[in-house]
Amino acid sequence: MAFTSVNPATGKRLAEFAYWDAEKLDSVLQQVADATPGWAATPVKGRALLIRRLGETLREQREQLAAIITREMGKLIGEARGEIDKCAWLCDYYAESGPGFLADETLESDATRSLVAYQPLGTVLAVMPWNFPFWQVFRFAVPGLLAGNTGLLKHASNVPQCAKSIENLFIEAGFPEGVFRSLMIGASQVEGVIADLRVQAVTLTGSDSAGRKVAAAAGAHLKKSVLELGGSDPFVVLEDADLDGAARAAVTSRFLNGGQSCIAAKRFILVDAVAENFLARFKAGVEALVPGDPMTEQATLPPMARTDLRDDLHRQVIASIEQGAEAVTGCRPLEGEGAFYAASILDRVEPGMPAYSEELFGPVAIVLRARDEADALRIANDSPFGLGGSVWSADTQRGEAFARALECGCAFVNGMVKSDPRLPFGGIKQSGYGRELSHHGIREFVNAKTIWIR
Ligand code: NDP
Repeated sequence: MAFTSVNPATGKRLAEFAYWDAEKLDSVLQQVADATPGWAATPVKGRALLIRRLGETLREQREQLAAIITREMGKLIGEARGEIDKCAWLCDYYAESGPGFLADETLESDATRSLVAYQPLGTVLAVMPWNFPFWQVFRFAVPGLLAGNTGLLKHASNVPQCAKSIENLFIEAGFPEGVFRSLMIGASQVEGVIADLRVQAVTLTGSDSAGRKVAAAAGAHLKKSVLELGGSDPFVVLEDADLDGAARAAVTSRFLNGGQSCIAAKRFILVDAVAENFLARFKAGVEALVPGDPMTEQATLPPMARTDLRDDLHRQVIASIEQGAEAVTGCRPLEGEGAFYAASILDRVEPGMPAYSEELFGPVAIVLRARDEADALRIANDSPFGLGGSVWSADTQRGEAFARALECGCAFVNGMVKSDPRLPFGGIKQSGYGRELSHHGIREFVNAKTIWIR
């Protein structure tokens, strides 16, 4: 058995890496366990210096790393560069602000002095997806390691070169050996790692089905877990919205990363008064996208990451059309080599169709019609997911009230949902639990220890 790295734009095999056997896995778990006490005892300022150096190393290797991402999972090269830049920003942010988030917090009580000390948990396993193969890993690793934990990465099977490159970056930035390791293991070996006494916690970003398995294993072994799962974010256009601005943001939000983002706008909920006007603008923007080699600057629609994911998406689209949804544009795989799918809009989506309740993880926008604002809110919240959502209105007070009523973890008014190191990120309902980023994220994998002194 081997991990195979395939270029999704061409279908060509790039590299293969052997899966580790149990003996190799055990030796790496031991190496990390041996490194854990020393890393936890390193003063936070020393850890922050290395995080800063990690950001510099990313910037130095920006071009090579971006090319690895694009070749291995297919995103546009410009977006791959943006992903590396964002990881470097994250390093700067936590190197600067992280030590403050971890500082002792004095609280009043009946003690002479009482405080909370934020101490590391130990070794944290991260099970990560391929869609933002650097960002998702850094989002866990940077605050996690700054807090004094060591990290294990089980990356998605289709991005082994990214997994190797990330491990190398930590070494090149000067982190002690064993503080961060990539495990070359399959999904079936994850439960054993969660069960291992040398591992204290687990975080997963990926599908809700993988999340359920990992959460069950974490529960069985009483280990802390954080889950960032799928989403089907609503993008609500009210009748007083700036339709040009909303339509531009809609195209970016839905089609960024080939539509393969958990926080992409997926359900476009349009109040009847502006539905046709918005849709005409949106359709023009969608049809202007140019599929092509993601290594070139001309392409604006990349392939999907794998042909099986493309085929699954098409099955969801076809099943919805058979139940009465209307293909406005696209809704078909593109001919030729590579995992390309046409930039698509599916209108008249109704309850009962796969497109209504399932996540569509690719370049397909779903349109739902609402009578008015109240109906739009009802539809927006009628989803098993609760990751993000956005609302568009010229009246920001009205927008804020709508944002507060959305059942999700991140609600945006007149802006597309995006992650930002300074703001907490995460979902509710079947989008998972826990938060990443900001001071909330760094405190997920710490022991907030109460110290009481008379
Ligand atoms: P998965 O959720 O299957 O993969 C994400 C990670 O979880 C990978 O590292 C994978 O490993 C691992 N994993 C999968 N199953 C298990 C398991 N039973 N136990 C432990 N680890 C597991 O995503 P896919 O690549 O299969 O994509 C399928 C769908 O998931 C997408 O269509 C989309 O809906 C959703 N998804 C959501 C993402 C998000 O950002 N929220 C990101 C990626 C996918 P391995 O690769 O070895 O299977």
